[in-house]
Amino acid sequence: ATPTALMVGTGRGAQLGILIKGPEVLESTRRVDTVVLDKTGTVTTGRMTLQEVYVAGGADEKQVLRLAGALEHASEHPIARAVAAGAEERAGALPAVESFENVPGRGVRGRVEGHEVAVGRLFADLPPELARAVEEAEGGGRTAVVVGWDGAARGVLAVADTVKETSAEAVRELRALGLAPVLLTGDNRAVARAVARAVGVDEVIAEVLPEDKADVVRRLQAEGRVVAMVGDGVNDAAALAVADLGLALGTGTDAAIEAGDLTLVRGDLRAAADAIRLSRRTLATIK
Ligand code: ADP
Ligand code: MG
Repeated sequence: ATPTALMVGTGRGAQLGILIKGPEVLESTRRVDTVVLDKTGTVTTGRMTLQEVYVAGGADEKQVLRLAGALEHASEHPIARAVAAGAEERAGALPAVESFENVPGRGVRGRVEGHEVAVGRLFADLPPELARAVEEAEGGGRTAVVVGWDGAARGVLAVADTVKETSAEAVRELRALGLAPVLLTGDNRAVARAVARAVGVDEVIAEVLPEDKADVVRRLQAEGRVVAMVGDGVNDAAALAVADLGLALGTGTDAAIEAGDLTLVRGDLRAAADAIRLSRRTLATIK
């Protein structure tokens, strides 16, 4: 490889909003045949809103919102921000939190107004009316957040994310480059499928805990696939590091950016296709 051609490649990358850690990174793009796409914040905007509140018989909607909102106020998760903002809007000022625990990939837990409150995917048993609410929300491609306290589920909040305008076009471009797209998410299967359908991806790996995302990449590699991973979150960092090529969104967290080989500055997935096209072209000139 001639250093000059590689430098041209990295310079052109900067113009396209692609920051490359080092010229040697381009080499790893040569054999990539699979692109794993994180869902939340990567394929979708990650800016979620609270859309619907369901309560079990006897539960008070305002109390469901107040207790859930108070706990989620202490979390940075996109779902948490949507719940806290929506709760404040619908139920007024949120109470103080007496204790708080983040359960990665599942939700939050803590003490509010003397109750042991849990929010997220933390209840095994749901009363039939709430099970129906979860089905209805997920069937519509929304994430269902179960709220309960003192051992019982009492409400369901439906939270919606939006697919980025450029994601479907990006998936088409990646396919045109001969890459197989895979959607990877901690979110439930129904929501994952709805997003996958919207952007034209048919391989979906859902309900993966944050610590298991890297294992999914390793499993694909064990099948002989050469994997590029695109992600934005703290929970994507390990997978970005394990992937043959890690692409971090510049709109994402520092942990993801540090773990990636490339940064897509604008957070636009089409830059992933640009990056692979550019490095192939650069490598072709060197040969
Ligand atoms: P992703 O892989 O799509 O970025 P995460 O791994 O962060 O998502 O979370 C997986 C799932 O865990 C979410 O879809 C949600 O159901 C649940 N969850 C995680 N954090 C929270 C939270 N703070 N509040 C409610 N639910 C949560
Ligand atoms: Mg994400």
